[in-house]
Amino acid sequence: MYCIGCGAKIQTEAKNALGFLPAGALKKKIAERDQMEAVQAGDEGSEASIKTEDLYCQRCFRLRHYNEIAPTSLTDADFLRLLKEIGQHDALIVNVVDIFDFNGSLIPNLHKLTGGNDLLMVANKRDVLPKSLKVGKLTAWLREQAASRSLKPKDILVTSAQNKDDVAELMEAIEYYRRGRDVYVVGVTNVGKSTLINAIIKSASGSEDVITTSRFPGTTLDKIEIPLDEDSALIDTPGIIHRGQIAHYLEPEDLKYVSPRKEIKPKTYQLDPEQTLFFGGLARFDFISGERQGMTAYFDNEINVHRTKLEGATEFYEKHKGELLAPALVGAKLVRREFKITDKSDIVFSGLGWVRVPQKAVVAAWVPEGVDVVVRKALI
Ligand code: GDP
Repeated sequence: MYCIGCGAKIQTEAKNALGFLPAGALKKKIAERDQMEAVQAGDEGSEASIKTEDLYCQRCFRLRHYNEIAPTSLTDADFLRLLKEIGQHDALIVNVVDIFDFNGSLIPNLHKLTGGNDLLMVANKRDVLPKSLKVGKLTAWLREQAASRSLKPKDILVTSAQNKDDVAELMEAIEYYRRGRDVYVVGVTNVGKSTLINAIIKSASGSEDVITTSRFPGTTLDKIEIPLDEDSALIDTPGIIHRGQIAHYLEPEDLKYVSPRKEIKPKTYQLDPEQTLFFGGLARFDFISGERQGMTAYFDNEINVHRTKLEGATEFYEKHKGELLAPALVGAKLVRREFKITDKSDIVFSGLGWVRVPQKAVVAAWVPEGVDVVVRKALI
């Protein structure tokens, strides 16, 4: 069975993947269809007046009825195919990234795949970062980080998807940079791409009646088109899954720890060498050697930070994970990586937060197996 909106194969298992329909809804649809077929069969002679009910996945259903886009994700192979396809069009690429999880939200090799098209970078979730951080400084940092990945955006816009002014500014920038061309919006999952697109649809439908369509039947590339003018459109593409993000390892009830809703309050700890910080039961930071210094943790306000001695920290973790050190991943082991810091840097626990190390130090970062750890130039 396939969704008649987007062509994806109907499935009832993975909520955020293509073609999802809750099992109950699918059962109901099948029952409705059987009933209708029975009526049609008993109605011989007259023109078959009742048509078989159309089958839509949940995403297309919501889009049709509420003009609202739900996030979906693609396999890597599908996503690469999609990016290649974009590279063959003369279009503006809008890449949405999450400022709180910048490294985790970059698309590997985006620059190679988009075929020299103009790029507009949208750094979303600015509301999560301390207000004291100036947009100019943030933009300069983002530009430097993008350049280190060979990305040279025409412009970088800092947004909060909930902020109407930001959405209006984004639309203006898109209109300015697209120069009449189609616009492809790309991003990894969880960066807030759907929230932004829904805000765009909402603000656009205020002035004219925007009809969004999920209209690529027969392909598995579930793209959503929002018409911009007579012959061009804004095309929303599914999010790519970045497996190094901690979100993919968490239980649904713990996802709140990696999607901060409010401005994060940095916490500074004066640390001596051979001290350890635990971030709930999800990550661990060891200060191994160096001078006593103030290390600042940027994590969701609800993550419990626990300081202890490096010596015995492993036993401490084993004893207290899931209780004093919560949340923790069931059955997961923390894996250690050591870093020698020479200049003020952030040790980033992908998607969870980061620790700012201001001076020379040797440190270790522990994360669940599979989760990325990155060292970068300090953001703040
Ligand atoms: P997508 O997977 O990129 O489409 O991301 P979603 O739009 O589904 O958003 C992922 C999560 O981030 C959701 O919990 C959103 O509520 C949240 N989110 C989206 N935009 C923002 C933002 O600007 N600020 C904050 N704090 N959260 C956001």
